[in-house]
Amino acid sequence: MPDTIMKSLPADLISAVESTPPQQGFSTRAIHLGYDAMQHNGALIPPIYTSSTFAFPDVAYGGRCFSGEEQGYFYTRIANPTLALLEARLASLEGGSNAVVFGSGMGAITATLWSMVEPGDEIICDVTLYGCTFSFFTHGLARFGVKVRFVDMSAPHELAEAISEQTKVVYFETPANPNMRMVDIEMISTIAAKHGAKVVVDNTYCTPYLQLPLSLGADVCVHSATKYFGGHGDLTAGAAVFKDAELGNKVRLFGLKDMTGAVMSAQDAHLVMRGLKTLALRMDRHCDSAETVAAMLAEQDMIADVYYPGLPQFKQHALAKRQMRRFGGMIAFEFKGGMQAGVKFMDSLKLVTRAVSLGDAESLAQHPASMTHSTYTPEQRAAHGISDGLVRLSVGLEDVQDILADIRQALAAVNK
Ligand SMILES: *Cc1c(COP(=O)(O)O)cnc(C)c1O
Repeated sequence: MPDTIMKSLPADLISAVESTPPQQGFSTRAIHLGYDAMQHNGALIPPIYTSSTFAFPDVAYGGRCFSGEEQGYFYTRIANPTLALLEARLASLEGGSNAVVFGSGMGAITATLWSMVEPGDEIICDVTLYGCTFSFFTHGLARFGVKVRFVDMSAPHELAEAISEQTKVVYFETPANPNMRMVDIEMISTIAAKHGAKVVVDNTYCTPYLQLPLSLGADVCVHSATKYFGGHGDLTAGAAVFKDAELGNKVRLFGLKDMTGAVMSAQDAHLVMRGLKTLALRMDRHCDSAETVAAMLAEQDMIADVYYPGLPQFKQHALAKRQMRRFGGMIAFEFKGGMQAGVKFMDSLKLVTRAVSLGDAESLAQHPASMTHSTYTPEQRAAHGISDGLVRLSVGLEDVQDILADIRQALAAVNK
């Protein structure tokens, strides 16, 4: 791989971000950034470039593309105009220098981390992670000589004690999937920076509309775009946004191009861009309804605990208020009757759908211990704060009174 390709390719993304009027709001950028209809036959909606390869007018031009003298598109695994537009929009919304999109959230996470560590390096992760991310660390990276350690990052002193010069990456989610534990992004980033470690935050639960980790000191945000970005449950996609453009280039030209090949299709990029146009609207509705549902759940005698950052009694409510614009659409809760009550509740739901994933228009309920977090052993789940009775709810966009009514009738069924 000539070095010059590294430097040249994402420059158009950077310039699209830099040319954005800084005063433009979140939704305006989500809808308009980087696209001029007049350069595309007046087409209001950006064309979908399905081409896998791009023609060279002559051999010399192709050579200049490969050497990096010319900033042309030449193969979609490396760059594609539809993907580039989405990347420019995501970089702007998240406040990064550049972004790379992927075929899935796991594609984004693996390509990013493969590019950041070598055998002998150490990664320190929070104790609570999305199940497949946990599996990638413990069964994937660890097999190739990367040391993976887990600390409870909701207690930042634990990171301060564990971190060393070997530590290259500090990785966490906040709020964490599935138990909603929160991590102080600014405090963790300060500790990591002192030791020269880069901070990677999975911002899937919040999206940049609710939380901006890069502005709080993080280096990379990774996303499952399958969730709120897409927002309609009809695609699988991922993204990573970088504070430092050079790291973004490395992830594109090594992690994506050579290591994972987890390329997003242009059709999916189009759908994610369509999702982004309503992201702020949808997130506000998810937040409104989740606040109402969490308050109702908190009043139920049969429920032991409700984990929702917006509840005043939530242990880290003060941190949530400081770090998030609003409190999101995800709720976790636990029945006094444990797993049996949780399963009875879930099997009694009629409108809320039993399904994994999140961030869709449809309200979804799942059981982490048997579903998304079954990659953990029971002992690991206990140690990582994922109890067998925990139910996870992704509050959708239906009318909130209908969501409440369905949950109430399922709660009543538990008592029968
Ligand atoms: C779903 C999810 C992922 C994985 O994303 P995919 O698009 O399913 O590959 C990673 N992190 C979090 C927090 C998720 O919810």
